[in-house]
Amino acid sequence: MYSVEEIRENYKGFSNSKIENIAKNESKGLRKDVLGILKDEIETRNLDINLINWVETETKSFDGIERDSLITKIQNLNCPKCSIKKDKLYGFEINQIVSVLLFANDTRKEKILCLNCGKKAKLKAILITFFAGWWSRRGIFLTPFTVLKDSFNFLFIDKISDRIINRVIDENTGHLRRKGTENKTLNLLIKRRNQKEILED
Ligand SMILES: [Zn+2]
Repeated sequence: MYSVEEIRENYKGFSNSKIENIAKNESKGLRKDVLGILKDEIETRNLDINLINWVETETKSFDGIERDSLITKIQNLNCPKCSIKKDKLYGFEINQIVSVLLFANDTRKEKILCLNCGKKAKLKAILITFFAGWWSRRGIFLTPFTVLKDSFNFLFIDKISDRIINRVIDENTGHLRRKGTENKTLNLLIKRRNQKEILED
């Protein structure tokens, strides 16, 4: 690992646009001491001061009690699909393969839904895959694997839900810091996230 001084020297050599780019897109993954260097560079170069605010919101992760209460808040929202609030919400992993002509089109989504809607959505994706997934070379291999894995995953609803909700929080740290965690904000965020295709881990 580079020493802080080496990193500081490196940062000094970066162009302004590279510094801006790191601040906007990569600050979340930086160590604390490197973040300090980044902020110093933004200040000494007189770059847009909003960048510092951006970096701070992106990197102020939700931990401990704050994270727990945010998770509870998300779980207690109305279901984004049926709008009913019966039980709590869960995060579901939903995989679907459809082979068209010779190509397999596989999509993965992670949806936060009520138990009822989530199970329905999962089952539907499994059935579609079961009937439409096979008809390509890749589909032949992917389909049985996906159908089995997704059926098996019904046993781990809580565990998978924990992983997904935590991931949504981590991905949106900056957004949540800037926009707040009111129900309305969370609802919108989750609706949008539910539509998003997830690329492999
Ligand atoms: Zn629902």
